[in-house]
Amino acid sequence: MHSEQPKPAKRPRNAERPFPWRCRDCGQERVVPTTISYDAEVSHDGRLHAFAIPSLTLPVCQACGAKVFTEKVEDQITAALRSYLRFLTPDAMRAALDRVQMTQKEVAERLGIAEATLSRWLNETQIQTRAMDNLLRVFFAFPEVRSALRGEAQDPGLGTTDITEHATRDRATKAGPANRVATALAALGPNPCRALKDEKRIEAARSRGLDFVRREFHSTENN
Ligand SMILES: [Zn+2]
Repeated sequence: MHSEQPKPAKRPRNAERPFPWRCRDCGQERVVPTTISYDAEVSHDGRLHAFAIPSLTLPVCQACGAKVFTEKVEDQITAALRSYLRFLTPDAMRAALDRVQMTQKEVAERLGIAEATLSRWLNETQIQTRAMDNLLRVFFAFPEVRSALRGEAQDPGLGTTDITEHATRDRATKAGPANRVATALAALGPNPCRALKDEKRIEAARSRGLDFVRREFHSTENN
């Protein structure tokens, strides 16, 4: 038994009603879609941005000029703001996700943001901040950044040194004959061949005894 009557489907806010609409200001049924050039002032990321939108299509009363800002109009303004700020577009973000073969969840974790936040940017319901736009661009541009930002597994030392020093330090501390040779060669200075020759002489001196060392140093001093 059904105690509740099925509710009529609720009309979404600002759903398209047939034009002309009745004007809320003057009461005349003369509101029709009109394309105008519009000077927008939009607050985003703590700043007020003023920019011109060359063609904005919105319902305008032909009698009194009243404008109606529906969701569709707001979407156009948001898209224009994104373009004015030169931010990554949702399409560009989707293409980047495909290219780096990461899920939204994985990218959100690596960037340290909620998955829902990334989803809002992709669904055009929110525009990223300038700082996040920069982070997104760097993340999608550099494989090094993608491999360095690893969420909870991230190296706590990341950012404390230049990345090249970081890599050199990692190599030097790694065990292995090749790394030890490389480290030893680096320690010999800018001319390792010459230094190595000197070391051979010293080693030879050690095995031959003090007289040899004295002779060697004596001859060097006399040169
Ligand atoms: Zn009107």
